[in-house]
Amino acid sequence: MERPAPEPGPLDTPATIAERQHLVRNIQRRESLHPRVVDALLSVPRHVFVPLSIRHLAYEDGPLPIGEGQTISQPTVVAMMTEALELRGDETVLEVGTGSGYQAAVLARLCKRVETIEIIPSLAAAAGQALETAGYHNVRVHVGDGYAGLPELGPFDAVIITAAPPEIPSALIAQLREGGRLVVPVGPQHGVQELVLVRKHEGGITRQELGAVRFVPMVRGNRPPD
Ligand code: SAH
Repeated sequence: MERPAPEPGPLDTPATIAERQHLVRNIQRRESLHPRVVDALLSVPRHVFVPLSIRHLAYEDGPLPIGEGQTISQPTVVAMMTEALELRGDETVLEVGTGSGYQAAVLARLCKRVETIEIIPSLAAAAGQALETAGYHNVRVHVGDGYAGLPELGPFDAVIITAAPPEIPSALIAQLREGGRLVVPVGPQHGVQELVLVRKHEGGITRQELGAVRFVPMVRGNRPPD
């Protein structure tokens, strides 16, 4: 699908554009990225998705605190996970762990619709606001427990989980369309997890490990985190 070249939005300044270009160039030195993914990273104003007090750090390649003990993911990790989904433009994507809304905005540039679910209501509200401000109208933010997914809106062409469960949640594999891709950091709540790409074929799944990552835990809605 033809897409317009990314244009700096009204929220940008020459400085934010330059910093973002620098960040994306650095990510491209380490990661091989599809041009569409590069365009998406170049176009989404990450600074809009981080708290005002730390906006000057928005284009460092690191995670940042967004309140409630949660973080916006490192841009390189957002790039890797987005690349792994191989989006072409016509997909509906489920994201678990809206957080700041930044990953959802990147996905929104690359697919038809994003359904994203966040367990902490205040973060969901702030993310919805940031997505609105930045003009991403094909993203819907839901408050709820991502372990259940959104069965009434599935199946999804792709699923991205941006908090770490100890194992891949079976409900989310069930909501993945045949031929679809799911990317998830799997592992212990504290420490290092493995980024896993799951493909669904004829009811079965194949797993591919993409490398070590560090995410906040995916918590259960019906009990406090361990
Ligand atoms: N994708 C985010 C990164 C979010 S960090 C971004 O771009 O900023 C992970 C988020 O997952 C946190 O906001 C956390 O509250 C949320 N989370 C943890 N467990 C969850 C669950 N069971 N369901 C939905 N969201 C969950």
